[in-house]
Amino acid sequence: MPNPVRTNRSPRRFLRVGLQSKMVLVLAFLVIAVTAAHGWLSYNTTRNFLIEGDLHHAGRLAEAIAAAARHDLRSERSTPLEQLVADYVRSDRVRCVALVDAEGTPVVSGCRDLLPDAWRGWIHLPASVSDTRYAEGDVLLLARPIVIRRDEGRDDLLGGVRLVMDTTATSARLAEVQRRTAVVAATIVVCGIPLGYLLVWRAIIQPIRKLAGASRHLGAGEYATRAEIHRSDEIGELAGAFDIMAEQIGEMRSELVAANERLEKKVAERTGDLALANERLREEMAEKEEFLRAVSHDLNAPLRNIAGMATMIMIKHRDAIPEEALARLQRIQANVDAESELIGELLELSRVKSRPEKRRTVDVRAMLRDLAESFEYELTRREIELSLPERAPELYVEPNRLRKVFQNLIDNAIKYMHRDEGGRIEVRYDAAEPGMHHFVIEDNGPGIPREQQKLIFGVFQRGNGNCAAGSKGVGLALVKTVVAKYDGRAWVESEPGEGSAFHLTLSAPTTRPPAESDGPANEWVSEHGASRSAAAP
Ligand code: ADP
Repeated sequence: MPNPVRTNRSPRRFLRVGLQSKMVLVLAFLVIAVTAAHGWLSYNTTRNFLIEGDLHHAGRLAEAIAAAARHDLRSERSTPLEQLVADYVRSDRVRCVALVDAEGTPVVSGCRDLLPDAWRGWIHLPASVSDTRYAEGDVLLLARPIVIRRDEGRDDLLGGVRLVMDTTATSARLAEVQRRTAVVAATIVVCGIPLGYLLVWRAIIQPIRKLAGASRHLGAGEYATRAEIHRSDEIGELAGAFDIMAEQIGEMRSELVAANERLEKKVAERTGDLALANERLREEMAEKEEFLRAVSHDLNAPLRNIAGMATMIMIKHRDAIPEEALARLQRIQANVDAESELIGELLELSRVKSRPEKRRTVDVRAMLRDLAESFEYELTRREIELSLPERAPELYVEPNRLRKVFQNLIDNAIKYMHRDEGGRIEVRYDAAEPGMHHFVIEDNGPGIPREQQKLIFGVFQRGNGNCAAGSKGVGLALVKTVVAKYDGRAWVESEPGEGSAFHLTLSAPTTRPPAESDGPANEWVSEHGASRSAAAP
């Protein structure tokens, strides 16, 4: 099933806004820079052109005045000079005209209106100075010497002409040019930026977004997704590569799905086979257990009959039976008892799994004290010292089964003790980890050869030379089966000649679940977790 398209807003939004903003900024910068540079260039060109026109015009005027005044200046006739000045002052754009003699003393001057301040100092320049400058108030100041050429190629200084020209028209034209340039620049900026952005959006941002959307859909499992951007530039190439990749992913996915289906089918087949085999095994085990129970049960009845008959013969015909026959009858009875006991243990072993006992809270220390009392006679007789743990938990378990475990182990330790004196059995306890309990039943008996240490936990497995000691080979198998029910383990650590330490771990709660409410069965089993009479010392 395809995954939903993940929108993952923040990074995508950041990228999108970032790219757009960058594009707009770069575009705006470019448009403004180009427009400003172009406006500045055209304004300066126009300004230079107009100024040059003014200068040229003023130069021509000064030359014309000098030419007209040269003769009268040399003959020092002031009236024609005044007339000349007055004529020029009246003319368009000339504001003031002055003529100075060779020493720079003004001979005649005239102004159309108020004299500009710059004029005052400037009119007294030496007659030979040739100078041009702009002054505030839109005026152009111009000073030219008036010379007369001698035949020998030498020039004689006659005086000088000073001219103040009005440049208001030039300034007005420049202002107009400035205004138009600004309008054109603003129009370019206002129209150019959105237009440029539109182009960039269509050329770059839109296909990138389309590609990003297609990637998201592909990631969500829509393997038929294609970018579908048909262009001949790099973005078109990228989109083409994406489409090929999407196609390959789709094909690989289909192959994977097919392989997965094949695998699932195979697993289902195998699981079915396994379940069938399991069921068969369970049935066979149940049949075997049933068979064992039936055989054990059916064997018990004739054995009891044999024992009963032997007892009856011994009681009724005691005096008539010879000593040897009596001894044989007693052996028959003992063997029958041993076989009945073995059958009983085998039945118990098969019941451990199939017939669970009611669980109750067991005070393990009290239970061990109870067991010690039951072994007291044998312990005293064989001078064996049994020590119990200082501390042991209360466990919610099957009481008789747990008791049987410790009984078998202590019984073995006593049974196989080879010392006539100094025999020692120690039961220890520690909480291995929360919920897991660890017991050790250690003795200083004969020990167990290394090669037998694992085998002795199997049914009918007895150690070498133990057949005669009433050994049946079922006790440790029962121990192992019971602890396995509590997720535990049983093992032995032993050095031949030095003794054996049987270890048990079992996992059981230390308190009874609240639903359980059966009454206690004996002293070391209690209803609410505390032992009644065999409390800790
Ligand atoms: P059984 O004691 O009836 O033979 P078990 O299953 O209890 O059956 O013991 C199996 C074998 O393990 C015994 O035959 C004996 O050889 C060995 N064994 C068990 N406990 C001890 C012990 N404490 N010391 C030495 N050998 C032992």
